[in-house]
Amino acid sequence: MTTVIPLPAPVLLLVAHSDQTFPVRRVYCVGRNYAAHAIEMGHDPNREPPFFFQKNPDNLQQTAEFPYPPLSTDVHHEVELVVALKQGGDTIDAVDALDCVYGYAVGIDFTRRDLQAEAKAAGKPWTAAKAFEHSAPVSPIVPAQAIGHPMDGNIWLKVNGEAKQQGDLNQMIWKVPEIIAELSKLFTLAAGDVIMTGTPSGVGPVSRGDVVSCGIDGVATLTVAVV
Ligand code: MN
Repeated sequence: MTTVIPLPAPVLLLVAHSDQTFPVRRVYCVGRNYAAHAIEMGHDPNREPPFFFQKNPDNLQQTAEFPYPPLSTDVHHEVELVVALKQGGDTIDAVDALDCVYGYAVGIDFTRRDLQAEAKAAGKPWTAAKAFEHSAPVSPIVPAQAIGHPMDGNIWLKVNGEAKQQGDLNQMIWKVPEIIAELSKLFTLAAGDVIMTGTPSGVGPVSRGDVVSCGIDGVATLTVAVV
């Protein structure tokens, strides 16, 4: 059987030290998962149930450039640990959840903060603030087989060499196994799903011409130029 339109291109992420790629199915993101970031955004840092939003698979990009999006004048960087799943399911127990993880990467959840603020004020969805073109640069995926499952480690982001975000993975309010467990109550997870796990404090704006570098110790680094 043929298709009535050309098949959309699959989204394939590079895997570190490999000529194989990781095909993406869905992208989930966790909101407010570091207390200091919740506070800087004006929210209660106490442990509330996690909440989720999505980006589009093809928002993930592995190029050296981040094109500044239209219709915003306040685009913020959010450096995040990215989790890539090799299997999924429903109602996954947290103690089994790491069995689902293929590997990890560092990524940036670029956010149109002005559109997000308007959406929050109006009780509208965040889609335009979060799921725009090129909004999720991500490093090559590093297999858990090579690095294990990072539970702590420095997570940082610099703009033009100046430190902006700084945290530790051990400051995550909801840890990776808990995030997978919670997501799997709401959605059927599957191989190819990617989870962005929230950002530490220090988010701020970027401008065309900036060079944004970020990393997670023991996982990966990533550099993108804002164009
Ligand atoms: Mn985020």
